[in-house]
Amino acid sequence: MRNVLVVNAGSSSIKYQLIEAETGIRQASGLVERIGEASGHIVHRGVETEERDIVAPDHTAAFTAMLDAFANAGAAIEALGIVAIGHRVVQGAGEFIAPTLLDDRVAERINALSELAPLHNPGHYQAIVAARHLFPDVPQVAVFDTAFHQSMPASAYTYAIDPAVAADHGIRRYGFHGISHQVVSRRAAEFLGTPLESLKQIVLHLGNGASACAIEGGRSIDTTMGLTPLEGLVMGTRSGDIDPGALLHLLRAGMSTEALDALLNKRSGLIGFTGTGDFRDVRAAADAGDPAAELAIAVMVHRIRHYLGAYLAVLGGADAIVFTAGVGENSAALRAEVCSELEWFGIRLDAERNATRSSEARVISADDSRVAVLVVPTDEEAEIARQTWDLVTA
Ligand code: AMP
Repeated sequence: MRNVLVVNAGSSSIKYQLIEAETGIRQASGLVERIGEASGHIVHRGVETEERDIVAPDHTAAFTAMLDAFANAGAAIEALGIVAIGHRVVQGAGEFIAPTLLDDRVAERINALSELAPLHNPGHYQAIVAARHLFPDVPQVAVFDTAFHQSMPASAYTYAIDPAVAADHGIRRYGFHGISHQVVSRRAAEFLGTPLESLKQIVLHLGNGASACAIEGGRSIDTTMGLTPLEGLVMGTRSGDIDPGALLHLLRAGMSTEALDALLNKRSGLIGFTGTGDFRDVRAAADAGDPAAELAIAVMVHRIRHYLGAYLAVLGGADAIVFTAGVGENSAALRAEVCSELEWFGIRLDAERNATRSSEARVISADDSRVAVLVVPTDEEAEIARQTWDLVTA
């Protein structure tokens, strides 16, 4: 058996999946949490599920706990057949435009990019160092969330500020969720039976984090997230777009940088309106007549439609609109609200198709809709495994 271990690490957690290289079939998955704390925890789903408290002072200990879990579930490390490890890395900036084989230099550059992604890259780096130490003979690849968006034109990625200041601080739009936008747009093309190269698509990745992407011929030409994953759509805990003047106003009013960071990243979006960032709960509250939840969904929908219109203009029309991620895949009501009264643009849902629940890719537009509207489940881990395997076998 030849398997790719996919690692999605933060500073205090490691999510992992073991995926068969050629077929993309998932063999096992798990989550180690509270790394660095007095008491940690692992849930491992292999042939059997194993869950227990552990002590994992660092990422090396967390990987060791993962290996123990595999062994307890009946598969020793030698039997796992790990032929490559793929690490998800959020920020690759302008330096990494494709999946990249990890060596000391690449690892150090990922660490250096922590300046642009202080919430993400430090945890990735710690996991990369630990995994390279524990699996010295296994090729390891960094797959970047930003890489897919490196095809954006300068008109889309440039902020209209003093270019010297922007260059000094690396300030431009990078975009995120690239792994998801890439796999979803490719699968949408496969599903439609149309070459990716000839399609104009708008992918709406609506999960706890959310972003839209305008894709032409399989290349990202615009996306809603920017320098950081804070820009754009309304998210579970993030504000999305806000006038930068409002931030200056709050800073002048005496709010600290840390408080402002927490406000925008952790206490805004759905959770800011309602106290919960979980869309299901917000929807239930709105259905029960809670005005704060109703407003939260109204603002969220307005913002998605705002960008849908923008990307129809950016692309000069679209062949397909694709919904994905937790909310996009599961909420028929949200999809109906986003697509309502867009007949002028050639967009018309079929109510029955939209309401049908499925975990498969599917069309939800009416037969006479000029633009195909699809639901395509995302699978970032399978895509990381695919890109990792492609690179190590190239
Ligand atoms: P993700 O980040 O892709 O895992 O998506 C998480 C979001 O999807 C959360 O806000 C969930 O409330 C939402 N979600 C998951 N399942 C459903 C569902 N059946 N209906 C509506 N929203 C859902």
